[in-house]
Amino acid sequence: MKYVDDFNDPQLARRLLDDIHATVTRPWAMMEVCGGQTHSIIRHGIDQLLPDTVELIHGPGCPVCVTPLEMIDKALEIASRPDVIFCSFGDMLRVPGSSQDLFRVKSRGGDVRVVYSPLDALGIARKHPDRQVVFFGIGFETTAPANAMTVHEARRLGIRNFSLLVSHVRVPPAIEAIMRAPHCRVQAFLAAGHVCSVMGTAEYPELAERYKVPIVVTGFEPLDILEGIRRTVRQLEHGEHRVDNAYPRAVQPGGNPAAMRMIEEVFEVTDRAWRGIGTIPGSGWRLTDAFREYDAEHRFEVAALRTCESSACRSGEVLQGLIKPNDCAAFGTTCTPRTPLGATMVSSEGACAAYYLYRRLDAPAAPMPSAPSKEAAPLG
Ligand code: SF4
Repeated sequence: MKYVDDFNDPQLARRLLDDIHATVTRPWAMMEVCGGQTHSIIRHGIDQLLPDTVELIHGPGCPVCVTPLEMIDKALEIASRPDVIFCSFGDMLRVPGSSQDLFRVKSRGGDVRVVYSPLDALGIARKHPDRQVVFFGIGFETTAPANAMTVHEARRLGIRNFSLLVSHVRVPPAIEAIMRAPHCRVQAFLAAGHVCSVMGTAEYPELAERYKVPIVVTGFEPLDILEGIRRTVRQLEHGEHRVDNAYPRAVQPGGNPAAMRMIEEVFEVTDRAWRGIGTIPGSGWRLTDAFREYDAEHRFEVAALRTCESSACRSGEVLQGLIKPNDCAAFGTTCTPRTPLGATMVSSEGACAAYYLYRRLDAPAAPMPSAPSKEAAPLG
């Protein structure tokens, strides 16, 4: 299939791998930020084809995984109300809250619907003016423009029975938190290409300079990832720390100005808790005062909830790159995609799900020498 096969060409992949092997002279650890990249790496065995001295650390860039437990519990409470139609992308339905998930709410009679776009939820609100329709607006910079545009459209059309439960997160503050963590082993980043296609690259040079790390904007197909790694190891070997765009077919330095304007009009930066990680200052977006009436947290006045995370789940360490999923004792035994203990086993971008799909028959990964104990300080 053209455009897919083009970026899977085994001969080109071999050439890129040969270049990487010829370039690397010492150990390097780099983090791929995005869960989509993690899945591509594990699915194609890219990490197993690299020199043994190049480690890919899986980052926290899975939106479903980092949505805080308290927000999941708020979603469950709102979705349980008889006057509510609760709309969400399918990934969120099996994410465990403190005591249940959205599937359980649905099985008990809650009106929980899977939609493919926030505009679908807005359409449902138009059809059911007597019901409150809530869309679970989670994700990184990639999903924020569509959610912002939907709220904008709701106001333009005068649709008042629609609201957004917002849990948006931003990549650059997460990179900063990762670099500031005392146990950080990351020496370079493969930045998420789709995030940069929205936001451009302007936020990254300062981070690259401050923390002396190469940041290479990378795509998602096997050749994209190999090219991102090749450019990264070249910089590392030469002692450089620049922002480099290895995904120019999708990413312009200035990003998507129309999408950025829409985000700026509807959202404002806020501190945000990341599940398993902690609060990262300035790492989220919330609706501005001008759009507050469309904020589901505000509309339903969900009180602060007591949350209860599974004590067996080590997804916080997985998300910080401190352990690999198959280091967790519950991996593939008590925790599977059908019986997930943590969000990283549920999401199509979760690292635990990727290892379960493609690596569950492998021996557990050798412990990483510098991995700290579970009590390690949270990133935030
Ligand atoms: S395997 Fe399951 S229990 Fe272990 S860290 Fe991953 S999601 Fe949590």
